[in-house]
Amino acid sequence: MRIKTLTRLPLEGLAEKPAKEKQAQRKNAPAEVMGNWVEGRLVLSPKQNERFWSNVEKTETCWNWKASKTWGYGVMKYTSSRGIKKMVRAHRVSYSMAFGKIGTGLLVCHKCDNRACVNPDHLFAGDFRTNGMDAAAKGRTAKQLGENHGMNKLRNEDVLEIREKYSIGNVSQQQLASRFGVSQGMIWLIVKRKNWKHI
Ligand SMILES: [Zn+2]
Repeated sequence: MRIKTLTRLPLEGLAEKPAKEKQAQRKNAPAEVMGNWVEGRLVLSPKQNERFWSNVEKTETCWNWKASKTWGYGVMKYTSSRGIKKMVRAHRVSYSMAFGKIGTGLLVCHKCDNRACVNPDHLFAGDFRTNGMDAAAKGRTAKQLGENHGMNKLRNEDVLEIREKYSIGNVSQQQLASRFGVSQGMIWLIVKRKNWKHI
């Protein structure tokens, strides 16, 4: 079965879902910008900086995000200079503060496998492929889950991850298929919600 793969626009900066901007737009939003780029690194506004670090609990290894999370990743809300409410992932903010801008379309991945972690020492920028190879190296790709086929290969969290990654863009159904060890048709069924409708 051949399925046409939609071309998606690359990510711009940190915000991951610009399409939702309109829904989230509010009148009279406070002018509370995320921060500025100073010498290539993100410097949060004092208010955001304070809020960011008050949400972090540092351990000897991971720095865990204690506030809201989506799919295990820490998320932070902010209002753009144009008054648009946006959400950004805390580990991406942390990465940008420590290392600078994230290349267009790149993922910020966790060496520690702890999605809530914002310790820059545990973060690296990679594309979907390196992220997949990293996951494979850690033995958590679908191929290693057993002899099951089709739907049984995937756990609920895999299905959620597939939908999320596809909605963010920059990854084709074929890439998702190889990453999760299923057919492209299966990925199509998942992202179109023809399958796994219950989650
Ligand atoms: Zn960590």
